[in-house]
Amino acid sequence: MQGIDPQASVRLVGGVGPRKAAVLESLGVRTIKDLLYNFPRTYEDRRNRVSVGALKDGVAAAFAASVLSVSAKPAYYAKGKKTPFTVLVGDDTGAVEIVFFNSRYMDKIFVTGKQFLFFGMPQRNKGRLQLIHPDFENAAEGGEYSGHGIMPIYALKSGLSQRDMQKWHEEALAAAELVEEYLPERVVAEGKLCGISRALSDIHFPEDKEALRQAKYRLVFEELLLLQAGLMRLKLGRESGQRGTAKTADVTAEGFEGLLPFSFTGAQRRVVGEVFADMRSERAMNRLVQGDVGSGKTAVAAAAIYKAVKSGYQAVLMAPTEILARQHYGDLSALFEGRLKTALITSGLPAAEREALLGGLASGEVDLAVGTHALIQPDVAFGNLGLAITDEQHRFGVGQRVAIARKGGAVPDILVMTATPIPRSLAFVLYGDLDMSVIDEMPPGRRRIATRSVGQGGRGEVYDFAAAEIEKGGQAYVVAPLIEDGEDGSVTAGLRSAESLFEELTERFPSRRVALLHGQMKQREKDAVMSEFSAGGIDVLVSTVVIEVGVNVPNATLMVVENAERFGLAQLHQLRGRVGRGRAQSYCVLILGSESGDAAERARAMTETDDGFKIAELDLSMRGPGELFGVRQHGIPTLRIADLARHIRVAERSKNTARALLESDPMLAKPENRAFGDKVESLFKDVTEVGL
Ligand code: ADP
Ligand code: MG
Repeated sequence: MQGIDPQASVRLVGGVGPRKAAVLESLGVRTIKDLLYNFPRTYEDRRNRVSVGALKDGVAAAFAASVLSVSAKPAYYAKGKKTPFTVLVGDDTGAVEIVFFNSRYMDKIFVTGKQFLFFGMPQRNKGRLQLIHPDFENAAEGGEYSGHGIMPIYALKSGLSQRDMQKWHEEALAAAELVEEYLPERVVAEGKLCGISRALSDIHFPEDKEALRQAKYRLVFEELLLLQAGLMRLKLGRESGQRGTAKTADVTAEGFEGLLPFSFTGAQRRVVGEVFADMRSERAMNRLVQGDVGSGKTAVAAAAIYKAVKSGYQAVLMAPTEILARQHYGDLSALFEGRLKTALITSGLPAAEREALLGGLASGEVDLAVGTHALIQPDVAFGNLGLAITDEQHRFGVGQRVAIARKGGAVPDILVMTATPIPRSLAFVLYGDLDMSVIDEMPPGRRRIATRSVGQGGRGEVYDFAAAEIEKGGQAYVVAPLIEDGEDGSVTAGLRSAESLFEELTERFPSRRVALLHGQMKQREKDAVMSEFSAGGIDVLVSTVVIEVGVNVPNATLMVVENAERFGLAQLHQLRGRVGRGRAQSYCVLILGSESGDAAERARAMTETDDGFKIAELDLSMRGPGELFGVRQHGIPTLRIADLARHIRVAERSKNTARALLESDPMLAKPENRAFGDKVESLFKDVTEVGL
């Protein structure tokens, strides 16, 4: 593949036909360059060979052994499955069993007495050590293994084999030389980074560990640099310290408390103090308020709104879902009844009503606008916006956060509230320009939510328990991963849908009121169900994750999550936070459809801790970097190699570099920065389309 264009189709690689190309495409690989950027999931070090006697359960190893005996030729048995083909191999120190399930031709390869090199992970099965489908090669007489010492292991999809992937990536290496360096020369030199061609080659097939380390460092640095430079550019003009407006009305935390039906916790009072200090100052506020579910962020937001409006400005509160926006609107318009003029702006408004409300915003007549994404439509303008609050920020793209901030003429104060405590490292990258306040205390009288997990066998008991809770006057949520059966092959995958559960529970609780809520229902229907549940008119609410964020129904005491293995930790924590909001003891039950390692570990974490910060850290370390950091959640590019749970130091360094670059060349338009600027641009293309 001498001199192959990195932009060429992956079809040029030997052995990639239309079918395999389609599978590769589903991994995001279309061109040879994509293949180079498809980094290994892990590596296998094949340089240190061990003797068979030294093989250990769960420790990947390379070893030479000869075939001692083979099982009979594979035979078919019922259901068309084959018996596995097993080979006993060994050396002077011991023997080990090699197992192949789809074993066509294996009996031709493994002939008694022949020598092979094996690479794989031994596992103990019924007391015996086995390797299932190990990599192997024919060993030339006493010869050395000729391949690479450190072998890449790629993520696979059905239809791809590890061997194919290794071969294709090796073939693509020829194109690595032609990938042009896009980091500015100065950055490469000052960061002591290896060049892009070297990095793209060594990340797949490194000579040794040092080469791998350097390649990895370069690629992690680059990824975090691009990300942070992109974010900084989005925020250009929104860095802390920018001139805003001083909100001088004489509203204090203690004074505002008089409007509330409760008194602030110490933490709320402190955070309100921090927010008020920002607002009094002429420097624009840029503050993130973190507080676990139920810690009372809404009251803090209300205090800020009150102070802004009393100082002569308008305020806006943007929530990620209609349900939540309506709930905030309900709470705040009740709280501010007769004091502030409040409007709700959502997407389903009739045209005339919408026009009237927008008129009120533009003229300054409306003091507070509460709403969803509908608030960042181009035709929404404020007369005198002084405060923009986004709730449950992790649900919004960065672009949207910026867009709402730009709705005012002057620079408004920004308050960002999040319930999913964001790990420090992630917050650093995402919100590096924000000041941070933490509400680290719960309102009094809260009891720990008793959490436990059960397998499928425990469902009956769980629903008996639900019946008892309802009998006592409580209400229950039942959350399922899907809306209806049949989505993504759910029936075979054994996943429960909200619709099928709704039917099942309606039958099971004939004298109770069971209702269904999901994202495909009409807004009117959703609202009706939600407000009825709030009012206590529904006993069991079967739902998808639409109820995940922020909804507050203090009388609900039981949260049942079906197929809990399908939900991330942070999401489970959010769901659990829907109960335990009143005085009664609350419960959360996770029903596991599968108890694979990950699912069981997540469930254990949930039963053991209710500390949202701990859960967030754990979530970050358990999930791949890409997942947590994906476009879906944050509206920013997915990370392929950087891991924010581990690469905090590199993030700090690359952030400094990004800042320096943008200070000297804000548009990244100087010749030496152009290639880098283009790359940032293309990465953030979709992000800027979100809301800017
Ligand atoms: P979150 O931080 O999850 O947004 P909310 O603001 O919805 O939490 O508050 C959760 C519940 O706690 C609400 O019912 C609210 O009225 C109540 N609450 C908030 N602060 C206090 C407090 N200091 N004392 C008593 N109840 C409070
Ligand atoms: Mg909230």
